[in-house]
Amino acid sequence: MHWYEMKVGSRGQTNSGVSQVCRPERVADIAKYLEQVGKNGIIVRGSGCSYADQALNSDGAVMLSKRLDCIRSFDAHTGELICEPGIMLKTITEIYAPQGFMLATAPDSGQYTLGGAIAANIIGLNGHKRMSLAKSVNWIDVVLADGTTVRASEKENDTLFKAIVGGQGLVGIISLVSITLLKRPQENVLVEKRRVANLDELMNTLKSVRKTADFCSVWIDTSAKPDAVGRGILKTAVFTKEIAPVSSFSLPKIKMMLPHLALHVASMPLLKNLRYRMAAKESAKIEPYEKFLYSSDTVRVFSTKGIYQLQISFSEAEGPQAIRRILTELAQTRIDACRAELTLTKEDSISYLGSVVRGYTLCLDFFRRKGLEDFLKHLIMVAGEHNGRVSLQDDALLEHRHLVTMYKNLEKFVKARNTFDPQRKFDSDFGRRLFAGEKKA
Ligand SMILES: Cc1cc2nc3c(=O)[nH]c(=O)nc-3n(C[C@H](O)[C@H](O)[C@H](O)COP(=O)(O)OP(=O)(O)OC[C@H]3O[C@@H](n4cnc5c(N)ncnc54)[C@H](O)[C@@H]3O)c2cc1C
Repeated sequence: MHWYEMKVGSRGQTNSGVSQVCRPERVADIAKYLEQVGKNGIIVRGSGCSYADQALNSDGAVMLSKRLDCIRSFDAHTGELICEPGIMLKTITEIYAPQGFMLATAPDSGQYTLGGAIAANIIGLNGHKRMSLAKSVNWIDVVLADGTTVRASEKENDTLFKAIVGGQGLVGIISLVSITLLKRPQENVLVEKRRVANLDELMNTLKSVRKTADFCSVWIDTSAKPDAVGRGILKTAVFTKEIAPVSSFSLPKIKMMLPHLALHVASMPLLKNLRYRMAAKESAKIEPYEKFLYSSDTVRVFSTKGIYQLQISFSEAEGPQAIRRILTELAQTRIDACRAELTLTKEDSISYLGSVVRGYTLCLDFFRRKGLEDFLKHLIMVAGEHNGRVSLQDDALLEHRHLVTMYKNLEKFVKARNTFDPQRKFDSDFGRRLFAGEKKA
């Protein structure tokens, strides 16, 4: 068993820590590494795409899972794929899309591992149709703190399943996954974009989009004046039999480390205004589904000073009012979000720490600057007043008291953690932040 010291950072570059790191080559090694874990515990890490401290364990141990990426079997009749957790979503797409299969959940990046995506119970651009990833998971094998492996699903060991899914690695390590891939209805999608002038128009349009579109997301101009709050560009897509035009040019997928200043400029109101005004009132194009997928991976932008992401889910009833309030506050402050996106969701998440409810998910990215944390804490309070839930997978600022008010199944999660890992072998900077002061079993 080999360990080495490494500085591990977060995707948002807001958090980092030095840890003892191991990189098992085989699933059977997981339990052997667990035997050697010291007092600050261990956290498993996939691609490290979570924005803050979710996959960090300062002064403790970190297990890198990306070499556990074998495919064990695939059944082309049922679509059942059995594979290890370190495989990336884009790899699954690259292998099975040519055979006419797709993952049921379509997030905007394929860079993360299947294990990380299940531990965050991700939602996609089809969240109003297909819900979160856990719904397509048949079962998972979980290595527990004592090194035993237990199979869990919605029907078998459901308490463990609901604690692991969305549980951010704090209860056990997913070591094998059975997931159903769907038959992709068509090869191409018809992608339509249209400008929406304000929040009322947006909300009205989204009512029909919920029924008709296979995929949907909205870019919101957070610098719009109060009478145009909520204006933006609605992007929808439906599968189509139409043929996509052959393109001789496609953008390379590049990773850019832009200077903070350049990103700061890009988030300026003037540029957002231009983006809104220069967008065609309505446009449509047909493209291959695989090209439409994973739009965030076309250009990946990092800020050297750090990015905070705040993702909040609101119910259908509270959403419009809550989103209006947040967008109005954003428009009034000089703290501008560099990205604001709205997606639709179909139903409440099955996981104990699931943030998603039937309604809307608003995702805001901010470059780190003076005064930002206080403002984000204020937005978290506003979210709470509208019964919103801040998603844990990207959060950097929530405290235990927020979990208590936002997560109605928190006690069930804590009980499951006490049952399966009473000594807190699995822990992370995120776990210590959110469960500080909470008693071990
Ligand atoms: C560009 C970008 C786009 C994104 N788009 C979306 C989106 O559309 N929808 C959405 O819902 N989210 C989205 N996210 C968030 C992302 O899905 C989550 O952060 C996901 O958890 C990242 O997976 P990862 O492999 O990088 O996990 P990591 O960041 O390495 O880890 C995340 C958490 O998962 C746990 N974990 C990892 N592997 C395992 C395992 N084998 N067993 C148990 N726990 C494990 C870790 O302990 C940690 O707590 C996006 C993130 C980025 C950077």
